[in-house]
Amino acid sequence: MPDSFFMDKQTTPPVCNYEDSDYQTSFWDKGGREYEDRTEAIALKRLLPKSGRLLLELGAGAGRNTPRYLGFERIILLDYSRTQLEQAQGRLGKSDKYIYVAADAYRLPFVDGLFDAVTMIRTLHHMAAAQKALSQVRNVLQPGGAFILEFANKLNLKAILRYLLGRQKWSPFTLEPVEFVKLNFDFHPKAVRNWLRELGFEIERTLTLSHFRVGFLKRIVPTSILVFLDSLFQWTGSLWQLSPSVFVKAMVTGRDGQPPIPANTLSFFKCPACGHSPLIDGENYLECSKCNKKWEIRGGIYDFREPLK
Ligand SMILES: [Zn+2]
Repeated sequence: MPDSFFMDKQTTPPVCNYEDSDYQTSFWDKGGREYEDRTEAIALKRLLPKSGRLLLELGAGAGRNTPRYLGFERIILLDYSRTQLEQAQGRLGKSDKYIYVAADAYRLPFVDGLFDAVTMIRTLHHMAAAQKALSQVRNVLQPGGAFILEFANKLNLKAILRYLLGRQKWSPFTLEPVEFVKLNFDFHPKAVRNWLRELGFEIERTLTLSHFRVGFLKRIVPTSILVFLDSLFQWTGSLWQLSPSVFVKAMVTGRDGQPPIPANTLSFFKCPACGHSPLIDGENYLECSKCNKKWEIRGGIYDFREPLK
């Protein structure tokens, strides 16, 4: 976890903000995470719909996974950190295909039923109010829409062993999330399944990942071999989940009458403060005609975190 983490006090629940963090470089590019990155690529390939029109990447960061959403016509990258989105822009470029949005996952600035797919990877991990964030995802998905969710699993083998040996106080067997570091949460797979079902999702598939996230194995066994073994073990996710990372594919029930995706990007958005749509295009900002708040557009990034003064 980068040193530059801090809790944003302006929002409730607290947001884990990666602003000015070198997360992409220190954790992914130089952090010996090739194994984790490649196992995620395999899981995404297995779970993502082959094609689609509009995908929301919630917690996109610097866009590490974005090029993997091949079959989608357009992608909205959402992150709370503007600097992470700037890194993503640098990597993916400014084109019509990618829309960059800085916003709070608890107050999504999108009209209901907009997306045919949402991904949320390594993001729920930072959610103090996980159910609240998941209900926002449910609202913006269409009937028949797919939700690919990754969460950190508290019921993992290492935590179970540590608990049984008396080296860890919290129980991996109970359903409540555990906050092991400030704003870093691990979840019980059953609790996540329960939340998704309560929101009207049907769980279509579960994959377990990073079975071999063990320091000495990563040092002595070639990454390709670990990735291959993990790709086999991922399927055991439908039977039990004892790995540190779990991917779930959940579908919104219903297929009929899929609403068309608006041609105009402006009509994607609603006011995150009062929920009103459509917003008015003021060139460098979007304005809400109901509560008069203005939301900045700067450097190709829509900013819905705090209204303009
Ligand atoms: Zn408003």
